[in-house]
Parts: sequence; structure tokens; C-alpha cells
Amino acid sequence: MALNIRGFAAQSATTPLAPHSFERREPRADDVVIDILYCGVCHSDIHQARDEWGGSLYPMVPGHEIIGRVASVGAEVKGFKAGDLVGVGCMVDSCQHCDACHQGLEQYCVEGMVATYNSVDRKDGLPTFGGYSERIVVNDRFVLRIDPRLDAKAAAPLLCAGITTWSPLKHWNIGPGSKVAVVGLGGLGHMGLKFAKALGAEVTLFTRSPSKEEEARRLGADHVVLSTDEAQMKAVARRFDFILDTVPTRHDLNPYLATLALNGTHCLVGLVEPMDPPVHAANVIFGRRSIAGSLIGGIAETQEMLDFCAEHGIVSDVEMIRIQDINAAYERMLKSDVRYRFVIDLASLRE
Ligand code: NDP
Ligand code: ZN
Repeated sequence: MALNIRGFAAQSATTPLAPHSFERREPRADDVVIDILYCGVCHSDIHQARDEWGGSLYPMVPGHEIIGRVASVGAEVKGFKAGDLVGVGCMVDSCQHCDACHQGLEQYCVEGMVATYNSVDRKDGLPTFGGYSERIVVNDRFVLRIDPRLDAKAAAPLLCAGITTWSPLKHWNIGPGSKVAVVGLGGLGHMGLKFAKALGAEVTLFTRSPSKEEEARRLGADHVVLSTDEAQMKAVARRFDFILDTVPTRHDLNPYLATLALNGTHCLVGLVEPMDPPVHAANVIFGRRSIAGSLIGGIAETQEMLDFCAEHGIVSDVEMIRIQDINAAYERMLKSDVRYRFVIDLASLRE
């Protein structure tokens, strides 16, 4: 039997999120049913709820930073049992037979990964719904183990903000001796600082918010550069090996490119739209610089990141909210007023 679920949904690009009941599929033999405890609030939730990327499916239940307890497992599930603390991130399925899937990079599946929400299940063609809800049904290959040493609330953002910053830092071999800059101190940015520091890099934050300087240092930044101050930008010309750009709106890459050292890489994780103004080719030709991008991370890599966090005591800095306050939280995020990730306590759904 399908499961009746309560959650919060956007009914269109212009309506605020509101209570919504919906059905999830009858659990399959390889499914895990999870009672959701906490769900982080990612800027991607805003982009998609408001159809800023196009093609949004409504009603939409956002949320892809999910922590919960296993309620039950299907007959074929070996790795999880009722009561386990688990996580679900941005994807819930992929083809499992393309080159990308074989490499453990399911997010780059050639047939397209199935996103946790705003997507369509491969088998039944029904829409997927995310973590702003009481329960979720997920194929066991896409469920992550959460070490009980981690604070469950503060671990929720690791499932997206964490892996999205971890994956490029690992791919570009960041470690001792690397000079890394993170652009934007929000949910992704603060995890970028923590991970770059933990991996041994010298870390700089580019921010437009002078008020964030002190906290940036606590989060791992060795240096803070006010990106709106031309003199400060000039002072770091040709300095960085790697820039992790988490800015969620169109912005000028040229001033950042000028701060890359020889062979440096400017990696976009923030935006999926054309950049404006255009990149000046000289800014990549001189210095053999690269502009790159990165999408979340694979499942094996996500587990590796979660285990690293448990080992090193790394979690997000979170502000807990009730689900009834989600629309106000979105407005605060749009003003860069979040320190540094909102996390919904789903107990509020049962009030
Ligand atoms: P947040 O809103 O938490 O943080 C974004 C930060 O960017 C702000 O705090 C601010 O930092 C800075 N910023 C905001 N607007 C501007 C601007 N106009 N110019 C310069 N800086 C700005 O967002 P998230 O960290 O949740 O997400 C960031 C982006 O990453 C989103 O677009 C999201 O969709 C995307 N994303 C991409 C993923 C991927 O796989 N590639 C996965 C998850 C998210 P400050 O005050 O320091 O300037
Ligand atoms: Zn996200």
C-alpha cells in the first residue's frame, strides 16, 4: 500500500510553502523507509521552489539534506535495519550501468540521476518528494550511514552542502601546501572553509559581508578578503591554486580569475545559469587558468566524507527552525542572513 505523508509543499513558483499531504510509493524489496528527523535548507530548494532553473514540477516538496531513523526495510535490504541513523542527500536513483555510475559518480549518470525531489522515479514514473516531510522511501543504494558520534541535527547539511564542497576539494587534490579561496559564506561556503582547512590548505574567504570576517576565521579561514574592495582584490592577484565559488546569483568572474596562480582553477558550484558579464578570455589564457564546475558527489564519496566528519568532529553550524517558519527562512537566506544553515526539526510537523 502507498504511504500517506504529511509535508510542506510549493504549489507553484509564486506561492509560499504550505502544509500538503501526498502519497509515497509502496516500499519495494530493496527500499528503506525512513522517519525524517531533520532536513537542511539548501539554496537549491529556493531556486527550484521558485522555478529559477526552469522545468519545476508542482506540487513540490523540497529538501535534500535528510537525517532520519530507519522505520523498516524491504526483504532484500542487507545494509540497514530498523532504528539505524541514516542520511539521504540530493539523489535517490541512477541507471547503475553507465560509465559514470560504474565509477561511483552517480550524479553524472548519462541517463540522468533521479533527484530526491522535483524529479521522476525511474520505475513508476511518479514524482519524487523531498525531506520537508515526515517519511521518505529510498532505494537502499542511496541511503548513507550516519555515525552516532555526529550530532544528527548538525550533520543534516553534510548531505548536500558538505558533499558539494568536499567532492571538488578532493578531485582537485587539495591538501597541505594548497592555497584555496572560497567565494560566499553561506551553507556551502562555511563547509568549504571547514573542509579546506581540515585537508591542510591555506584558506581564504571572499565575502561581500564585513560582518562575517570574525566568524570566517573561526570556521577555518586564514585570510578574509572583502570582494567589493578593489584594493583588497588586487593584493591577492595570482595567489590561489583553487577557488570554490558558491555564489547563487550571476556575478563577474573576471576579478576572481585574476587572483588565480599559474594553472589555477576557478570551480563553480553555485550557479547553473550563464555568467554575466562574460569571462574575458585573457583572464584564462594568461596563467593557463581553468574554469570548471562540480555537481554534488557520488554515494561512495558521500559516505567517505561523512566518515571523515565523524573522525574529525566536523559538522555544520546550524540554526534550527520549525517547518512553519520555512518561508521566513527563505527570505533570510536571500539576504545572506543565515549562520550558516537552517535545519528544519520535523517534530514541528506533528504539532
Ligand atoms: P546560501 O544562500 O547559504 O549562501 C550563498 C552565499 O553567497 C551568501 O551567504 C553570500 O555570502 C554569497 N552571495 C549571495 N549573493 C551574492 C551575490 N550576488 N554576489 C556575491 N556573493 C553572493 O546558499 P547555498 O550555500 O545553499 O548555495 C549556494 C549555491 O550553490 C546555490 O546556487 C545552490 O543552488 C548551489 N548548489 C550547487 C550544488 C552543486 O552540486 N553544484 C549543490 C548545492 C547547492 P557572503 O555574505 O559571504 O557574500
Ligand atoms: Zn542542496
